Amino acid sequence: MGRLSLVNNEQGAVVVGGGPAGSSCAFELAKRGVDVSVLEEHKEIGVPSHCAGHMSIRSLRSLGLYPLPEGIVENMFSAANFYSPKGTKFSIRLANPVTCAVNRSLFDRYLADKARAAGAHYFLKSRVESLIIEGDFVKGVNVVQEGNLQTHAVFAKMVIDAEGISSRLLHQSGLSPLDGDKLVYAVEAEVENIKDVQEHTVEVYLGKNYAPGFYCWLMPIMNGTAKVGLATNRGNPKQFLDRLMRQHPVASKQLRNAKVKSMTFHAIPLGGPIQKAYRNGFLAVGDCASQVKPTTGGGVIFSITCAKIAAEVAAKAVEKPDLSEGFLHSYQKRLMNSIGFDVEVMLGARHVLDRFSDEKIDGALRFAAKTDLGDALRNVEEIDFQGRTLLSMLRKPAAFATIIYVASMYLLQKCKG
Ligand SMILES: Cc1cc2nc3c(=O)[nH]c(=O)nc-3n(C[C@H](O)[C@H](O)[C@H](O)COP(=O)(O)OP(=O)(O)OC[C@H]3O[C@@H](n4cnc5c(N)ncnc54)[C@H](O)[C@@H]3O)c2cc1C
Repeated sequence: MGRLSLVNNEQGAVVVGGGPAGSSCAFELAKRGVDVSVLEEHKEIGVPSHCAGHMSIRSLRSLGLYPLPEGIVENMFSAANFYSPKGTKFSIRLANPVTCAVNRSLFDRYLADKARAAGAHYFLKSRVESLIIEGDFVKGVNVVQEGNLQTHAVFAKMVIDAEGISSRLLHQSGLSPLDGDKLVYAVEAEVENIKDVQEHTVEVYLGKNYAPGFYCWLMPIMNGTAKVGLATNRGNPKQFLDRLMRQHPVASKQLRNAKVKSMTFHAIPLGGPIQKAYRNGFLAVGDCASQVKPTTGGGVIFSITCAKIAAEVAAKAVEKPDLSEGFLHSYQKRLMNSIGFDVEVMLGARHVLDRFSDEKIDGALRFAAKTDLGDALRNVEEIDFQGRTLLSMLRKPAAFATIIYVASMYLLQKCKG
């Protein structure tokens, strides 16, 4: 752990949080010659992990992160099974693996190592308590290091908030905090001794009885172990997980003898990126700015994409120097150009999904299976439900028919009130 006295003088940039957003931003800043420090409250990067680590291989590759060093990828997936609450199954089998599961602790460590190698300084066990705001500008942060009760002021031209879901600093900066109504509450468990699950297949269980407002997943890792999780917009996620494991017509068989090795709880923001993620001397990236896919809750790819843009804008702001909102506004503009369209389509899809009864989900899966949608999608390169992918699926007649069917069920439901 570094000592904060090393960063007493004004830094180019300080990054709060050593998750994917923070480390990616630090890497890009350091690469551009900005003197940058990352402050992370935990004693180890990537620990504790709360994430399934499921990502699109193509997206990782386009970010220059694939192939990953050995040991980080736990499994690769070329198929997905979707189940209705009654157990109706619809499968997609692709020609090649399109997604992978990474070990999030190792993945985060890899990103931090890259940032360190580029010149970023890391300070672990260093919790940022508050922002230093002078005039109308964010000028730095107040930090407490474990084992030292004194608060330490660290000044920086730019403060990058990558604190994850808590968004405490975002609130302090004067920007709107995350909308609590758009959060879902997730549980992620590592289990062993699963049964009847194919090695390269993700299992997805839909339905309000098991995961209202979201879905449940099972991702096999190796030797009978798997990551199982769900998120919900109401109730206790642990109770829903128990119900999935005991009562779901398919999951209960797969997980009948499963032993839970670990379990974590965390929230996921599904409302789409916040409208304003910048102010004088300050940018917010990652979960704290709700840069998460509203369909799947995947936030790692978006976080890294947005962190890169944030670093490019922040590096220019430091160099100029112009730390004003007027200059930093280009961050928002660029990130919406990059992910805005995908987010809009995904928000629409989420809106429709949220309004579907369990019976409608069952009907939709039956219809999809009947139209051979699975075969039609055999050569797609993504199954992560990004906006552009969703739209490109429409070119396949079976996919088109299914979307029309789903849309008509939705409209019918709306008309019935
Ligand atoms: C159960 C679950 C499953 C998920 N599965 C997937 C998935 O399969 N694929 C996917 O892409 N996404 C998934 N996500 C979402 C993904 O985990 C997040 O979108 C991603 O971690 C966001 O990265 P981040 O860097 O913004 O935040 P985080 O990864 O949360 O990192 C924030 C960091 O900031 C530190 N920090 C916070 N406050 C302070 C402070 N005051 N001072 C110092 N340090 C601080 C934290 O300790 C942490 O290390 C999942 C989320 C959950 C809850």
